[in-house]
Amino acid sequence: MSPCRRSLLAIGLAALTALPLPALAAEVNLYSARGEELIKPLLDRFTQETGIRVNLVTGKAEALLQRLQSEGVNSPADLLITTDAGRLFQAKAAGVTQPVTSERLQAAIPATYRDPAGHWFGLSLRARPILYVRDKVEPEQLSSYEGLADPQWKGRICIRSSDNVYNQSLVASLIAADGAEATEAWAKGLVANLARPPKGGDRDQILAAAAGQCDLAIANSYYLAGMLTAPEADQREAAGKLAVFWPNQADRGVHVNISGAALTRAAQHPAEAIKLLEFLASDPAQAWYAETNGEYPIRPGIPVGATLAAWGEFKADSLNLERLGELNGEALRLMDRAGWK
Ligand code: FE
Repeated sequence: MSPCRRSLLAIGLAALTALPLPALAAEVNLYSARGEELIKPLLDRFTQETGIRVNLVTGKAEALLQRLQSEGVNSPADLLITTDAGRLFQAKAAGVTQPVTSERLQAAIPATYRDPAGHWFGLSLRARPILYVRDKVEPEQLSSYEGLADPQWKGRICIRSSDNVYNQSLVASLIAADGAEATEAWAKGLVANLARPPKGGDRDQILAAAAGQCDLAIANSYYLAGMLTAPEADQREAAGKLAVFWPNQADRGVHVNISGAALTRAAQHPAEAIKLLEFLASDPAQAWYAETNGEYPIRPGIPVGATLAAWGEFKADSLNLERLGELNGEALRLMDRAGWK
């Protein structure tokens, strides 16, 4: 081998050792429990602006979390996106996330909507108000979640089952506000007021109320927004029979949850992943992300579309969402004892 060739080879090898492949690739691997159509356009814009490619894997939150756990340090994922704080709490507890320090994220996301230790960050707000059938209920009859246990609602309420994390989080927020004993009594009162045994998802509660099976439905507001703007006339017509009531405005505020993201412990592209998080928390991304999903921006001052604007502004519960995760087990046992199927 000529000296020249040998030195070229040496340079080549040195370059390979100094620059391992992952560092060369400007990319982020994303595990998302959020549907592709609800996030892909935003990821494309991020790639256009930064040149960082985003590889998207979508799936159910449970499956993605299990996958992260079984892949361990070999996981290709850099970021996990979920549609509620409970799953982010589980991911943190399972040890598959790591803390992020970012002044931008701290400035953009209120402390209530991020993990105190920086393991996860909220990216949109999801409110769970009381929906009422306009023809059958006057908003003056409503006040708070606590009021749903009042005998005036006997046989008039539709809500999904207790195995759903949205309801578990709602009950956890009630435990935080009123204590376990009062919340168990409340849950018994609510169960006594149900129009039918819990079944179906949030959208099914809205449909049942529209069909005359109940006068109140508990559902996340983005389901109603989605139905009001649906291409199907029957969905729009059903949703149009209901109105939004923001409960607990005189005290702690309406129960909210978040969609959010966490940096994985195995992240190979942490800098790029944090850049994507900061992008998703930025003003233009917030406006698009929240509006496209029928949710609310993570902080005040960002415009919302016509459907959400028509429901007016509301005060949200300021409980740190980490408490929802901490109280989840207690909420579940309490709902079980109360006979909430
Ligand atoms: Fe949902």
